[in-house]
Amino acid sequence: MVPYIYKNHKIIPKIFLYNYIMIKKFAVYFIVYLLYLGLLANLFLVRKIHKKVYAPIEIKQARSLLPLRVVAELQPINGVFFHGSRHRKQIALTFDADMTQDMKNRLASGQVKSWYNHQVIDILDQTHTKATLFLTGMWIETYPSEAKILASDPLFELGNHSYSHGSFYGKCFGLKPILSIDAAGEIEKTQKLLFDITGTTNHLFRFPGGCYDTTMLKAASKLGLDVIQWDVVSGDAFGKNTKIIEQNVLGKVQNGSIIVFHLHGGPNAPHTADALPYLISKLRAEGYEFVKVTDLLI
Ligand SMILES: [Zn+2]
Repeated sequence: MVPYIYKNHKIIPKIFLYNYIMIKKFAVYFIVYLLYLGLLANLFLVRKIHKKVYAPIEIKQARSLLPLRVVAELQPINGVFFHGSRHRKQIALTFDADMTQDMKNRLASGQVKSWYNHQVIDILDQTHTKATLFLTGMWIETYPSEAKILASDPLFELGNHSYSHGSFYGKCFGLKPILSIDAAGEIEKTQKLLFDITGTTNHLFRFPGGCYDTTMLKAASKLGLDVIQWDVVSGDAFGKNTKIIEQNVLGKVQNGSIIVFHLHGGPNAPHTADALPYLISKLRAEGYEFVKVTDLLI
């Protein structure tokens, strides 16, 4: 055997060629390995950038109660609906029935007479105004028969507003933080109460205070719920001036708006019912139709 080969007009020792092939092979493997590492690093960076840069922006925007960038008409943005179609003159009035442990304690001690603003429901009924009511589980437990009556009223649809109205992300109006491990339980508990007490098979969820992150969003969407926030804040929570509540709504309302009010009344939302009659007649006069959230999003 001759340890030489003839290649490109040169005589090369076979051993050199063998080494050359080995080096070439190694180089290819090395480049593939580098590309793989690069891909991993990119994925890691994209995740990190999204978490660090975009997620806080989303949360900040949700908190500042501004609608996020509209990708397409009626497409939820990162799984959250802030409004319906901007092409139809329809709007949704929504009322949250909050209940925290502190609110429950104040009710038990007699400090607060009631956390159910019946007047709000009376006005909606008298004016045949459709609305969506987001109930906390603790509110349903406190007012089971009222919740049942609300569910049977064809003007209304019910939604889930968590069990104990805690913060699903960071500092949120002083609400008690909910650990991510408890998030699904908070939502599921109220789903069960809505079904057991009111017979509602619910598909709507609203984060208390509008505070959440992507992990919490996933927890809600895993349970098959549409997350419904808002694009108009009435400011009835702790609002001391009826005129300001009216101005807040009339100044920001537009086609497809989801307007947030509160149903618990008491010292936490004392003027909701005072603002409603004028708002309802004024918005109707402007040509708006009141619809439930579900119908707004069809
Ligand atoms: Zn709330």
